[in-house]
Amino acid sequence: MLSMSNFKRIPLNLIVFFLSFFLCACGTPAESNEDINYVYDEWQEMLAEKWSIFSKVEIDSNWFSVFELPSNVYAFYEMPYEQDICSYLILGKEKALLWDTGMGIEKIRPHVEELTDLPVIVLNSHDDFDHIGGNSEFDEVWCYDIDIAVQHLTSGPTEAEMKELSDEIKRIATVMDLTDIAVPDHIPGKAPTKTVKDGELINLGGRTLEIIYTPGHTASSIMLFDKENSMLFTGDTYYPGPLYVIRDDSSFSDFVISVRKAADLAESENIEWIIGSHNYIEKGTNRLSSLADFLESIQQGKITEYETEDNFRNYVMDEDISVLLLDKEP
Ligand SMILES: [Zn+2]
Repeated sequence: MLSMSNFKRIPLNLIVFFLSFFLCACGTPAESNEDINYVYDEWQEMLAEKWSIFSKVEIDSNWFSVFELPSNVYAFYEMPYEQDICSYLILGKEKALLWDTGMGIEKIRPHVEELTDLPVIVLNSHDDFDHIGGNSEFDEVWCYDIDIAVQHLTSGPTEAEMKELSDEIKRIATVMDLTDIAVPDHIPGKAPTKTVKDGELINLGGRTLEIIYTPGHTASSIMLFDKENSMLFTGDTYYPGPLYVIRDDSSFSDFVISVRKAADLAESENIEWIIGSHNYIEKGTNRLSSLADFLESIQQGKITEYETEDNFRNYVMDEDISVLLLDKEP
């Protein structure tokens, strides 16, 4: 049975369309592949427009698209994959920080080395398997100081996660007619070489980044604040799309606190760039405060309208953003 997690980052209207196709495919006549491609194309076209404000960097890859952001930041965007994952390379004068390493389908390090010869520290925004896939390619790998993340990074994606990855790639490869994608049988883990804590500062030489601990999506979720360049890297705690609080170590009450903390920071610091780890980047359109208000209203029982999908409740905030909770929450 198709699970909602197969459609993690695509907004609801597209999810409904996809679901209707795949559910129909079980028995009754289905929508045609052309229709599916059309919707998928529409989604990709919207994303392409959002990314078009940045210049694309030519690299030798069919898997990653790389975009140059202001202030010496590069986005590694896994465009062919429907979850539209973004990892970010942040350059200082002496060191570079790679904020996540993506799926591990194609090696990321050779492309990082096309852009910088500085020593690279990998820092994971959280330990979900779609953000740690390339960790083992690097010497220096950091994550938040919590056992569950240290263990997950060390062992790498589990068998179940590899199956989920493989199934999704196979499905999207059929829909998108991508025939040359090979999913590895196993993606190796890498024991973190250091762990970080809330408020810790990372000095890259002429550039200081601050760790903001924001549990909720996972227990290991952090954000990265670049004060001087007015950037907040929000991981999977915030991006324009469906936001998930459904893992075993997710916590809705922590999520509410974390989003409010980020919203207050974004507001008090007047942060220009809100840089999530899926879909697209927002400039000067801070929806974190609206999301914090929305979450608090759910928590206080003021919002009772939601859709039920499998074991999830889906609360829709606006055309982009929805919040998926386990049915027992809040
Ligand atoms: Zn993610």
